[in-house]
Amino acid sequence: MKPVRNNNIQGTPAEQPATLYGICASPGIVVGKILVLRRHTRKAGWYHLRPEKIENEVNRFLQSIDGAEHELVHLRSQLAEDLADALSIIDSHILMVRDRMIVDRTVKIIRKRKINAEWALAKALNRIKKRFNAIEDPYIRERYADVKQVADRVFGILSGRAGDSFADVDNQIIIVAHDFSPEDTLRLRSESVLGFITEKGGATSHTAIVARSLGIPAVLGIEQITRKCATGDTIILDGHSGRVCLNPTHDQVEQYQEYSRQYQAFSDDIAFFVHLMPETIDGLRVKLTANIETIDEVNTVQKFGAEGIGLFRSEFDYFHRQKVSDEQLFFETYKYLLSAFAPFPVTIRTLDIGGDKFVEHLPVSNLRIDLERNPALGLRSIRYSLREPDLFLMQLRAMLRASVYGKLRILFPMISSLDELESANQLLDSAKNRLLEKGVPFDPDVEVGIMIEVPSAVMMADSLARKVDYFSIGTNDMIQYSMAIDRGNEHVAHMYDPLNPAVIRMIKRTVDAGHARGIDVSLCGEMAGDVMTVPVLLGLGLDELSMRPSALPFVKRLLRCSCSSQLTELGDKILQCDDGAEVRDFLNSYLPEYYPEEFGGR
Ligand code: PEP
Ligand code: MG
Repeated sequence: MKPVRNNNIQGTPAEQPATLYGICASPGIVVGKILVLRRHTRKAGWYHLRPEKIENEVNRFLQSIDGAEHELVHLRSQLAEDLADALSIIDSHILMVRDRMIVDRTVKIIRKRKINAEWALAKALNRIKKRFNAIEDPYIRERYADVKQVADRVFGILSGRAGDSFADVDNQIIIVAHDFSPEDTLRLRSESVLGFITEKGGATSHTAIVARSLGIPAVLGIEQITRKCATGDTIILDGHSGRVCLNPTHDQVEQYQEYSRQYQAFSDDIAFFVHLMPETIDGLRVKLTANIETIDEVNTVQKFGAEGIGLFRSEFDYFHRQKVSDEQLFFETYKYLLSAFAPFPVTIRTLDIGGDKFVEHLPVSNLRIDLERNPALGLRSIRYSLREPDLFLMQLRAMLRASVYGKLRILFPMISSLDELESANQLLDSAKNRLLEKGVPFDPDVEVGIMIEVPSAVMMADSLARKVDYFSIGTNDMIQYSMAIDRGNEHVAHMYDPLNPAVIRMIKRTVDAGHARGIDVSLCGEMAGDVMTVPVLLGLGLDELSMRPSALPFVKRLLRCSCSSQLTELGDKILQCDDGAEVRDFLNSYLPEYYPEEFGGR
């Protein structure tokens, strides 16, 4: 957790204090000045020009090219020399910003069609995109992503946005924005950002998950927050309760600083559990593993004492890569992870793109997955991989090659039928055959599992269990898909209930189906790191819980003061409940009785 920092808060603020409530997305309390982020939109006016205005418009466009070049050179000067990858990307953008493909073509369109520069640039970009799409070599085809990024920068300047980098901000700030993508969140790591607040989003959206992984406090889903405050206002962000205090009084700041100190002391106490065995009082072992999104988290995971990685969300590794088909780069990442955790397992999930995660430069045959009408039900996840077999095979080969460096577990996400699993397995066999032909070594016994997160997979779990080595239950999606509640939509966030009996029974059904076939069942949704739900999950018989690294000591402490027969009894009682409120009532009386230290003070 980040410490509370009081950035220049002096006396009573000019504006009235106000308290607003949102969704707790990532814990931690921070106090700071706000930066309201108004992302550039593509709503710049599109208009025709009178003939005498045409050359002015050409000049305006050329000035925006100068501006973009200036921004890039400035950005480059701020990067450390050892960031070779980032530097080479910026260098290529600096070269590209004056490329005739963008500049001459746009100027020509402005003059010929007598239209404004934004419109002309968009048209030029469309043509460039078509030409890139027609290129066979995937490496060259992917270079379109660079052209697009450069054009976006120029477009932003033309449409009058303020700079979109937070790096220029002197003080550490709290960002307030309409929405934040998981990729935006990943960028915050390297910026002077204490935390962020958005109008959109839900507690298990990928934005929230990344914020928790990186330890960046966040509150999501506060309606109209961007209109209620202004850049420079002071705010307290309390990610534990989902509360934010705008223009707080001096007393409020002090009170929050005290909460934060207490939380820090509690976290320090609990750190002791890192070194102890994850088992119940009567010796039942449960594997406690970590969910990660990037390899930068390796040290943190080790610090929190995980027994390996239960979920590596590999798609996050595609966001910053310009070359999404470079097998060697992916191999290096996987090799690093496997070596770092050997002999513990590393579960690498194949690309789970779509839904609320998009990688602009990924190839999709004639389709924009970010423009799908219902992305959560569309070409997401394993469906995308099966549609783009070359990219999928590349990832599978990279994983297999890395398998000799540790204990790899391959995980296919969002499997909804046996057919889909068989198709994925066939491609895995092809990847293996290719390596065999070339004499490249890999572990022939690598374990293959699937995520159970779609109701059809729960219903077919007994059949699916015959074909895999393990199950991993993804409750974030299981809740979304079983109760028809968008996990990222703040308007239905109050209905998104992990303790709904329908979810509990689905988990139980999956565990039983897996155990009947002798395979392990893990759970890697956010429930696995929530102290309220962990006793229930243990009572349902899960063999492994995989969670954000910082939750590991808390969960281990709970496990170590549990007794297996009591847990089973708890699981049975919960399975008899008829609605979420009943489950909660029951837990509210049961937990303080059995775990007085952990829940007594609630
Ligand atoms: C899940 O759905 O529970 C899960 C772990 O996967 P993700 O959150 O990445 O969709
Ligand atoms: Mg999922």
